[in-house]
Amino acid sequence: MLDTAKTTAPVLILLGPPGAGKGTQARMLEEKFGLVQLSTGDLLRAAVAAGTEAGKAAKAVMEAGGLVSDEIVIAILRDRLGDEDCAKGVILDGFPRTTVQAEALDGLLEESGQKINAAISLEVEDAAMVTRISGRYTCGSCGEGYHDTFKQPVKDGVCDKCGGTEMKRRADDNAETVASRLEAYHAQTAPLIAYYQGKGSLQSVDAMGEIDRVAGALRAIVETATA
Ligand code: ADP
Ligand code: ADP
Ligand code: ZN
Repeated sequence: MLDTAKTTAPVLILLGPPGAGKGTQARMLEEKFGLVQLSTGDLLRAAVAAGTEAGKAAKAVMEAGGLVSDEIVIAILRDRLGDEDCAKGVILDGFPRTTVQAEALDGLLEESGQKINAAISLEVEDAAMVTRISGRYTCGSCGEGYHDTFKQPVKDGVCDKCGGTEMKRRADDNAETVASRLEAYHAQTAPLIAYYQGKGSLQSVDAMGEIDRVAGALRAIVETATA
């Protein structure tokens, strides 16, 4: 039994409010540990852009800063988890966000004989979120994330990773939706901290520090959790 558990691909969860740094950190962990970042936000935005049924149903909810239905999000996540590249191991960024999603994830992992190595909570103060979210932008070509103040590319307007010059801002990254998104986080997602604590898989990181400092703390946790 112990041997089997050791050889299954790692499953890591990043928990935290909007703007906590989940996407930023997930990409760094992806690079460092050869894992796949699974962001339900990215998957939903792709569905909206492609005009799929799920995308059509999700669009207005996302614009208003609410949570998309568990049914839609779980279906999207389940499909993506089944892709071959996910066999390397995954970092879940923005999923689960409700207890129903967490239970569905437990069921999916059980079916495939996998387990959660760590659910890592990025701890930040609500007051920091507006600044983080309103200054966020990403490279349209590779998705690398930037910030007007906290993470500027070396050359203004040019992506450090891919040289792309088309930078994008999200429609929902404005001061009006931040309040709704934080409310949804506290009401529906924050209870997952106790959920994973109860299962013995919770780890917490102070995410108020600089990006590289947070990354260092996360690396140490992931190294231990996947050893
Ligand atoms: P999330 O995926 O949790 O919503 P992001 O990773 O997109 O958050 O980060 C939100 C914004 O804040 C981005 O513009 C990012 O560059 C910036 N950011 C991320 N981590 C930090 C940090 N530790 N300190 C300051 N800014 C950060
Ligand atoms: P952030 O981390 O900044 O909140 P995301 O990119 O993770 O942004 O999510 C953007 C939006 O997509 C959310 O506000 C929500 O409407 C929807 N969404 C993403 N993941 C989920 C999920 N697991 N459950 C429900 N809605 C989700
Ligand atoms: Zn790029």
